[in-house]
Amino acid sequence: MDEFLKNKVIIIAENDDTLATEISFHIKKQGFTNIKFAKDGSKIYEILRLYYNEPEKMGLIIVNKNLPQCQVSEMCKTLSEGESDHTIPFIITGVEKVSYHHTTDISFLNRQVTLPINYSELSLIIDFLLMMKHERFLRFQQQEVLINELAERKVVDAKLKYLVAHDELTSLLNRQNFESQLRLILNRNNLLTPHAALLFIDIDHFSLINELEGFETGDKLLIDIVSLIRQILSRDDLFARIGSDEFCIFLENASEINIIQFANKIRKKIYDFRFSTRDVSYSITISVGIANFNSKNIISHPSEIISQARQACHMAKQNGRNLVWEYNENDSSVQQRNRDIYLAPLIRNALLGKKFFLAYQPVVNLNTGEISHYEALIRMKGEGVEIVYPNDFIPVAERMGLIHSIDLWVISEAIDFLAKLPAEKNHISIAINLSGVAFQDNLLLPAIKEKLELTWVDAKRITFEITETAAVESFEQTRKMIMKIRALGCKFALDDFGAGFCSFNYLKTFPVDYVKIDGQFIRNLPHDETDKVLVKSMADIASKLGKKTIAEFVETAETIVILKELGIDFGQGYFFGKPDTSLHASNTISIAELIHTNQKKNKISIF
Ligand code: C2E
Ligand code: MG
Ligand code: MG
Repeated sequence: MDEFLKNKVIIIAENDDTLATEISFHIKKQGFTNIKFAKDGSKIYEILRLYYNEPEKMGLIIVNKNLPQCQVSEMCKTLSEGESDHTIPFIITGVEKVSYHHTTDISFLNRQVTLPINYSELSLIIDFLLMMKHERFLRFQQQEVLINELAERKVVDAKLKYLVAHDELTSLLNRQNFESQLRLILNRNNLLTPHAALLFIDIDHFSLINELEGFETGDKLLIDIVSLIRQILSRDDLFARIGSDEFCIFLENASEINIIQFANKIRKKIYDFRFSTRDVSYSITISVGIANFNSKNIISHPSEIISQARQACHMAKQNGRNLVWEYNENDSSVQQRNRDIYLAPLIRNALLGKKFFLAYQPVVNLNTGEISHYEALIRMKGEGVEIVYPNDFIPVAERMGLIHSIDLWVISEAIDFLAKLPAEKNHISIAINLSGVAFQDNLLLPAIKEKLELTWVDAKRITFEITETAAVESFEQTRKMIMKIRALGCKFALDDFGAGFCSFNYLKTFPVDYVKIDGQFIRNLPHDETDKVLVKSMADIASKLGKKTIAEFVETAETIVILKELGIDFGQGYFFGKPDTSLHASNTISIAELIHTNQKKNKISIF
């Protein structure tokens, strides 16, 4: 028998002292050391109480069937049955006949012995019962661990489920869950739930609080705002946090209340509240956008209505914040946004398929009338025959982070175009527009280098046009990048010169070869004296700095005469030719013919 079982407490509950001593003598011989005696029932309980907190130390009880003050069968039942670490085996002595059947008062952990006691039999029973008890004890412990584990796991599961559906900070529904709840409502009400509305709430200048006071304070503000709004809402209104400081409320019975008044009530509640942190007190405002569900506004997906309410909120912000704004599809920014939504997948597809193409517009030397080079201008095929122009899709591509890919595509396509030109045209060079963020792309330089090496196109035939925005992020980084690309042999032009506030500063800083005077100064040149003065000063400064000047938007022959007088070197515009997918005329170095035709028409002598 295992040694540790020998230390278990064995209670000999026997009022016959001689018998008690005899039993004790035998079990001591068997190796048991911890023997207690009880002459009646109450003594048994007294001993048991000592081990209540250490049930594993208890062994078993050998009890006389007729022990005084003891309902033996009752005691056996309560102490030896059930699944607990407190169950104790009993050996009942003094029975007349051993019953081997399981009756109600003889449980699995009970055994009976007759008198006179057969001690070798008793010793077997003791061993067996102690082993059984120990087994049960272990099983119980494992079960307990398992139950605890399960309970814990259930809590974790429930917590996870809750977290998946809710925002941890505010305990509001999160976007995903909010959308699925909305979807259910939309389905339930057969696509349209009349008189329902969605509010989109955005905290004005929230990032300022975050920056000034730290994220913890920002979190506290969010919690405060949620509890303020909660006070106005009814329990059933869906309330969700769908962005860092963006909340949505779905009001199903909006017909019963004036929704704008209700939104204003929320706005006012926040406006009246003062948010205090340490010794500063902030007044907080929110902008609220409303999208209504009605027969004119058919909604098939929850994200649509959220997007409408968000656009309305955006309008509220644009119009001064701390406002409630209702979605109206005729708002200009709403239309712009819808256009963005329409263009985004087109741009993505255009990059994958062959939907982008380049048009080439000549840049003419105003002194010789010869084409100096062509500017490559990107276009995108829209749905059907529609052509989308860069002013429309480049800003969208920038917002989507696709602009670097477009820059790389244009570079590759334009250089390929040069490489494929027949030998007699290998004097032709190209100007490529780079986006404002092109220099933040580490792949730009190696891509240009690799393409030039692969195609054997002379780097001198490439001019990159950059705008002032290119340098806004980092003057120094842009300057260094220009130097590196120039080291390959490429040239640079400062595009849209004069359109920004710091054009002259950029001109001073960046090593460019050309200055392209923005079209707004050229278009009305013949009729605007101020433009003439401005263009003259730009031309003077550029020439002093050793840069060539290009005038954009040259639309009339008259303009050319003035540009020449003002000392501008090159011209580009519809007068010389619109952007086209094929190069100008057959072998056109000179477009003098075109000028002459116009010259005859306008009776102006140019060259
Ligand atoms: P930009 O580089 O200043 O290009 C000149 C724009 O003026 C072109 O518009 C051109 O078609 C237009 N234009 C040329 N001559 C005249 C004229 O006489 N009158 C008028 N009214 N317009 C004239 P486009 O092609 O729509 O390009 C607009 C802008 O989009 C470009 O301005 C450039 O900033 C950008 N862009 C064009 N192609 C690319 C490109 O491949 N990559 C990048 N990143 N931007 C490009
Ligand atoms: Mg350009
Ligand atoms: Mg320009």
